[in-house]
Amino acid sequence: MKAVRINKPFEIEVIDMDKPEIDEQNNVLIKMTAAGICGSDVHIYHGTNAAATYPRVIGHEMVGQVVEVGDNVTKVKPGDRVIVDQVVNCGTCYACKINRGNVCADLKVRGVHIDGGYREYIVVPEKDVYFVPDSLTDVEAVMIEPATIAVQSCSRAELVAEDTLLIFGAGALGSSILKIARLHTSNIIVADIVDDKLEAMKNLGAKYTINTLKEDLTEKVREYTGGYGVTVSIDAACTSDSLGRLLEATGNAGRVITMGFSIDNTPVTQFKITSKELDIRGSRLQNKKFQGVIDLVNEGRLNLKDSVSHTYHFTDAQKAFDFIDSKDPSMRKIVLTF
Ligand code: MN
Repeated sequence: MKAVRINKPFEIEVIDMDKPEIDEQNNVLIKMTAAGICGSDVHIYHGTNAAATYPRVIGHEMVGQVVEVGDNVTKVKPGDRVIVDQVVNCGTCYACKINRGNVCADLKVRGVHIDGGYREYIVVPEKDVYFVPDSLTDVEAVMIEPATIAVQSCSRAELVAEDTLLIFGAGALGSSILKIARLHTSNIIVADIVDDKLEAMKNLGAKYTINTLKEDLTEKVREYTGGYGVTVSIDAACTSDSLGRLLEATGNAGRVITMGFSIDNTPVTQFKITSKELDIRGSRLQNKKFQGVIDLVNEGRLNLKDSVSHTYHFTDAQKAFDFIDSKDPSMRKIVLTF
């Protein structure tokens, strides 16, 4: 079978590899039909993802069709359309024991630490697959995974209706977070540097937007929150200075959620954390959030359609990554097909 491998930064190769087989009886063999390209995949391509190892078959947004199942499989059958959870955890470390396997001490993420979804077939345990809603095409269903990342960040923030939320960054991550956050609270401010993106966020339900090139972030946040600052801020910009800025914009006893993977040092003032008694919490990947997102789609509470702007056949992955590097403004989600 064919697969797309990143041999080293900026080197994409379409390779031949052995088709995987069902080696354990709780496994299912899936024929890939659609795989999304995430910002983190682009970081692996660019060599700026500190977690990734090379060479790697990347891709962690994986939708496909079950073609074969092991003898002990009971949940799925050949023909079922499924999406695959990317998290593989040890089950025995402290994090796993407290049901936080997404930060397992021996974490293996499909498409990052172990081979992922840019290949024609993958074998995974039955527990890692979830049924794709009938209302979504396979290409649209790729958006379930980014939604799980958003659910994770809102869950880490313990977001409730009384909160005022600042989403910093109006890109793909920020808009996924907004779609989930508005199910919890209507008091949402989004900040970015691109007016068009901010306008799109208004249409998705943001109450206020701030263009930080033209307006002072903290000042405007205070204005929109009666002087207090937001009670929750989520960093979906993940720039080297974003944490420091969110410590400013977040009010006393607030929560600040980080999602960035930068290894750059960033200046942070202890006084701001201590004096306001801020909680700073990381949000990584997702912790068993697929079924919850699928339920939201099936209940009609979450619209994942209209997010994919371009598709490429997976053997044209180079073209897809070149297009992403072009920063074409028409670009939204890019999906590889098979
Ligand atoms: Mn992703």
